[in-house]
Amino acid sequence: MNLVLLGPPGAGKGTQAKRMVARWGIPQVSTGDILRQAVKDGTELGKQAGPLMAAGKLVPDDLVVGIVKDRLLQPDAAKGFILDGFPRTIPQAEKLDEGLRNHGKALDAVISLEVPIETLVERISGRRSCPRDGSVYHVVQNPPRREGLCDLCGAALVQREDDKAESVRTRMQAYAAQTAPLKEFYARKGLLHVVDGVGAPEAIEAAVVQAVGRR
Ligand code: AMP
Repeated sequence: MNLVLLGPPGAGKGTQAKRMVARWGIPQVSTGDILRQAVKDGTELGKQAGPLMAAGKLVPDDLVVGIVKDRLLQPDAAKGFILDGFPRTIPQAEKLDEGLRNHGKALDAVISLEVPIETLVERISGRRSCPRDGSVYHVVQNPPRREGLCDLCGAALVQREDDKAESVRTRMQAYAAQTAPLKEFYARKGLLHVVDGVGAPEAIEAAVVQAVGRR
């Protein structure tokens, strides 16, 4: 099962991707997570991507395409993968198609999670994550057991630099201008499934599973 999760920041791509990992045993490939790790590790990639990410801008296509190519060649992605946050531009989507084709593969479905803008802003402003293990919480909707601390490892939770108001605006604009056109791109290929991303994570997961089952 080769899937793409599409949606604006705060649509719940990461949350749903993690649920699908548990359900189907295929890896989540999040370019955002890979880039954040590179920034933390201070690698060359991290140095190039860090300032763009903090500002809410997209990282150049060739950098992310390279990351995804390497990641999809890992043995655990042979049976399938869930792409979360990639592709984000038409050129990225074209490169993905080409790369998969060269390996005799193709995408099976693209799920677009649709959420109204007010809900996105509410989710993003309350989002806190664990810098150690990547767990994600929400101060109101999904608070940790002990305020400000990760349930799993006890580390102090942080707000993502790019979840602060100024960067969020830029990210929303980048989504509208560069990523939203992918819906049309994939609809033409008959791959697009639109799923309502508002509600309990379990209900959204059920809708995703149903959409994937219909393909
Ligand atoms: P995310 O965690 O998916 O919201 O990604 C965080 C940030 O990483 C984005 O705002 C971009 O700066 C960068 N990024 C992640 N994925 C991509 C991508 N496919 N293309 C360009 N930039 C990306």
